[in-house]
Amino acid sequence: MKDYGLATKSVRAGYTPKNGEPIALPIIQSTTYKYESSDAMGALFDLAADGYFYTRLANPTNDAVAAKIAAMEGGVAGVLTSSGQAANLFAILNLCSAGDHVVASTAIYGGTFNLFNVTLRRFGIDFTFVTPDCDDATLEGAFTEKTKAVFGETLSNPSLNVFDIERFAAAAHRHGVPLIVDNTFPTPVNCRPFSFGADIVTHSTTKYMDGHATQVGGVIVDSGNFDWTQNDKFPGLTTPDESYHGVTYVEQFGKAAFITKCVAQLMRDLGSIPSPHNAFLLNLGLETLPLRMKKHCENAQAVAEYLQGSDKVSWVSYPGLPGDPEYAKAQKYMPNGTSGVISFGVRGGRAAATKFMDALRLCNIVTHVADCRTCVLHPASTTHRQLTDEQLEECGVKPDLIRLSVGLEDLEDILDDLAQALTAATA
Ligand SMILES: *Cc1c(COP(=O)(O)O)cnc(C)c1O
Repeated sequence: MKDYGLATKSVRAGYTPKNGEPIALPIIQSTTYKYESSDAMGALFDLAADGYFYTRLANPTNDAVAAKIAAMEGGVAGVLTSSGQAANLFAILNLCSAGDHVVASTAIYGGTFNLFNVTLRRFGIDFTFVTPDCDDATLEGAFTEKTKAVFGETLSNPSLNVFDIERFAAAAHRHGVPLIVDNTFPTPVNCRPFSFGADIVTHSTTKYMDGHATQVGGVIVDSGNFDWTQNDKFPGLTTPDESYHGVTYVEQFGKAAFITKCVAQLMRDLGSIPSPHNAFLLNLGLETLPLRMKKHCENAQAVAEYLQGSDKVSWVSYPGLPGDPEYAKAQKYMPNGTSGVISFGVRGGRAAATKFMDALRLCNIVTHVADCRTCVLHPASTTHRQLTDEQLEECGVKPDLIRLSVGLEDLEDILDDLAQALTAATA
């Protein structure tokens, strides 16, 4: 099949209706599927035949949307999960057992950090966190004999660090393990991590992919490039799975081994599938993703430049600003734009930031990002409100930090609202 461009894939990949079939992806809201004989169904359970039997393991609507995202990322297979948290959890659990170890960047989403540092440690999986700009000796020293993966975020939420994918992929591959990256913020529209050497990509589809704040979801995509048989680190993929009729995933499924194992073991045992209705909503978002990302980035670039020029703003962080420390890496990995998310400080600290938030008329105060509506969050007065200014600095959140997720409204209306709120905050 022709390798179409990204916009074509975002509209058409994953579902091709036949003669007389619906043009829109149907929602197959059915838990189960009917068969004419026990033998026919038995072949499905043995993974010997393709087909659906129970939606926890596979559903046609979910599969179509996963296939679309896999095509957009340039991967070979994908699976949807019920949240971004579940996607990152499953990506790790598909490779690691108790006693194993992962090297992770410190510049990752807070929910992922907690999952790794608290919950997965409790399950016996160990993590070494390295800053994304650590020196080579520190990065090399982070690996142990038990290391099974390296993990980072292509554009980190909320610190907006651009991950040096090539550097971390090279380190992972020197140690015979894959690089997993969470590509939520740039989406495949702005960054294709596989082309820089990443092996597995995850997303919270709750963010830009959905874009309308209607569903919580996640996805895991495999590039198909990592050779699981190069060493004996991944027996789960290279030796028979006694819990699944002795299947050896790499032998039976080739490049689809990682995703098949993820479904056959983790979905079977842990669940975390999305509702087909949510997959349908996600698909509507995907159809316009390239258009929306372009507009988010155009608006955010103009807003970042406006904030940088304002005497009421003490600092601005946006990788698209030429003076930004992440600018050079952003030009390399995301030359068409990063995302619509900016962070900045209002002059006057925590009190002025609170006043700014309360004065906004158009922009919404929410914990969400990556929505079509412009949204703001002031961590010091909400998610981190119990902390003192000193404690905030310690966890890398400045008291005046405002996370601004620039939406798709007219630029003038966004700028007007920010201007009047900045005036009110610093009056
Ligand atoms: C939001 C987010 C997650 C978690 O996703 P949910 O869909 O909320 O579970 C993971 N990674 C990143 C980068 C995120 O922004």
